[in-house]
Amino acid sequence: MPTVTKDNDTGALVLFSGGQDSTVCLVVALDRYSRVETIGFDYGQRHDVEMQCRQRVRSEVARLFPEWAARLGPDHVLDVGSFGAISDTALTSGAEIEMLASGLPSTFVPARNLVFFTYAAALGYRRGLRVLMGGMCETDYSGYPDCRDLTLRALEQAIRLGTEMDFTIETPLMALSKAETWALAERLGGQSFVDLIVEDTHTCYRGMRGLRHDWGYGCGACPACELRARGFTEWQMLRARTQTATR
Ligand code: ZN
Repeated sequence: MPTVTKDNDTGALVLFSGGQDSTVCLVVALDRYSRVETIGFDYGQRHDVEMQCRQRVRSEVARLFPEWAARLGPDHVLDVGSFGAISDTALTSGAEIEMLASGLPSTFVPARNLVFFTYAAALGYRRGLRVLMGGMCETDYSGYPDCRDLTLRALEQAIRLGTEMDFTIETPLMALSKAETWALAERLGGQSFVDLIVEDTHTCYRGMRGLRHDWGYGCGACPACELRARGFTEWQMLRARTQTATR
């Protein structure tokens, strides 16, 4: 393994979709690193709600937390439309969102995170950002094999070898349940950050923002909405129990 001098002022590049998980990740990065930039991918998603949400989330984080605003650098959006064209899934076409015989939802885009992190490494190389951060999680998740820690550790090795740069892939949510992710958000940015997640982030696979639930906007029925809603309820219950215990 080639060794590269590690500076103390390592910057981070966050894979940022405007969803709940990547928003929490963005704030973890802003809390840890002095220079943070974001990267987003336009691969022909069937709705552009995410793309609109990500700009709003970035500006709200900067408005509410001046200390983090000073660390937040530019946003980069890459057009990876050709990737969308070869991935015929419910996220990129009009197909129904359902569970397939493989045990994966029809929203699975094969190898998506491998492609995204590889692009992020190429950009991070140019921008001098050695930490690549993403909100992947293998506890409460849809079973996507490219979200697993083992997959991303292998990818990290491949990226290091392929660039001769000591990149690290950080996935701070990997071992957390959705309830724990809500708790982490509160710990990092208090109630105002929780409110920002509820109001401005987007998770729903169907791209619906008409219905407002206590956990945010969405259809309430797709696998992404179900995970987000269940996590929120569990976190609320946990919080109520803790408050009773400490009273
Ligand atoms: Zn939904």
